[in-house]
Amino acid sequence: MSMTRLRFPDVEFPAGAQQLRVEVREFLDTQRASGGFVPMADCWASGFSAEFSRKLGQRGWLGMTWPKEFGGHERSFLERYVVTEELLAAGAPVMAHWIADRQSGPQLIKHGVPEVALAIVPRLAAGESFCAIGMSEPNTGSDLASVATRADKVPGGWKVTGTKIWSTGAHGCDYMIALVRTAPVDVKARHQGLSQLIIDLNAPGVQVRGIADIAGQVHFNETILDEVFVPETHLLGVEGGGWNLVVGELALERSGPERFLSTFIVLQEAMRLLINRPDERTCEVLGTLIAKIKTLRRMSLGIAGLLQEGKSPEMEAALVKEMSTRFEREVLEQLRVVVPQDALRASPGLLPVLLRDAILRVPSSTLRGGTNEILKGMIARQLGLR
Ligand SMILES: Cc1cc2nc3c(=O)[nH]c(=O)nc-3n(C[C@H](O)[C@H](O)[C@H](O)COP(=O)(O)OP(=O)(O)OC[C@H]3O[C@@H](n4cnc5c(N)ncnc54)[C@H](O)[C@@H]3O)c2cc1C
Repeated sequence: MSMTRLRFPDVEFPAGAQQLRVEVREFLDTQRASGGFVPMADCWASGFSAEFSRKLGQRGWLGMTWPKEFGGHERSFLERYVVTEELLAAGAPVMAHWIADRQSGPQLIKHGVPEVALAIVPRLAAGESFCAIGMSEPNTGSDLASVATRADKVPGGWKVTGTKIWSTGAHGCDYMIALVRTAPVDVKARHQGLSQLIIDLNAPGVQVRGIADIAGQVHFNETILDEVFVPETHLLGVEGGGWNLVVGELALERSGPERFLSTFIVLQEAMRLLINRPDERTCEVLGTLIAKIKTLRRMSLGIAGLLQEGKSPEMEAALVKEMSTRFEREVLEQLRVVVPQDALRASPGLLPVLLRDAILRVPSSTLRGGTNEILKGMIARQLGLR
């Protein structure tokens, strides 16, 4: 078993990054002060606001790294990092565009038929159209090669039939990039015969049904596809080559700062409360959490640097996601101990709601985008341990 070294290169923010950070912070302060949004925990997976996403599109903060011909801004991955971490730290409602900006746009640009990509991607960059991920199915999660959604060849394309599940945001999206079976399963090569198709969620035969989460809110869906016609121009890459595309997409899905910043707004608000009553235990807990964030951010920035070099850092992303999502749980477990209940009850600020919502949602962190057990298996293989 060969072992490839995991790399987290040192990166330097480009000139202008600090100015960009100031601009984003000013924009967010203005938006928040004028009621444009109320900060929320897990904002990238539960704060769907098409209006807010459009405002970001108008500022040039979506599709930042994409070519100009696709409506992008040809800026660096590190500049994109500055914008995304500021949005997350503020708890802004960024869910509508998050998937398109993070992975679907890049997939379309890299693997789509140019005319189709040119028709869709500029609208993603403008925050006027959004995308969902169609990987999981009722009987397919960790073992993604077992997807059973079938694409049957018909003149000019395919008829797609099956059910996708947990499709985040699909109720507000125009497109889903779905992993489907375009050839029967070969038990000796299960990863073959899969393809990624762009599904128009407004097409006949598509039914998107909301699934309420533990807080009673609908963020994800069951997406039923009943003989949905998909034109052959809506294939990504080559027919049967979907597995490699999915692996590349998952590296983008797992690599960003959202994996350790979903609970940052809670920590920030807790610190505002605790700053006036710093006992030794509280200082120790807060100091430890901040030190861990610094470490995770350093690693995560290294991944942005690798993306900037054109690499696909699958293993590095798996490691950072596994560590980051465990950290998010730790933040809440520790805050529950050090935030005094009487102070919380008496708190006029956002903290009680943020803490409650974050506690309800955090169990999903270690599942979505690939479970920690699966990621650990990948990392162990990479390290030559299995
Ligand atoms: C909030 C949220 C949003 C999501 N959004 C999307 C989305 O937009 N699009 C999409 O396609 N999917 C989405 N998902 C689905 C997510 O990708 C799956 O939940 C995940 O891949 C796990 O699959 P599963 O739920 O079927 O669990 P299973 O695969 O059934 O796993 C159950 C348990 O068994 C463990 N396990 C399974 N196989 C192994 C193994 N080989 N070794 C060790 N342990 C194993 C797992 O770690 C887990 O603890 C979302 C999930 C959540 C929670």
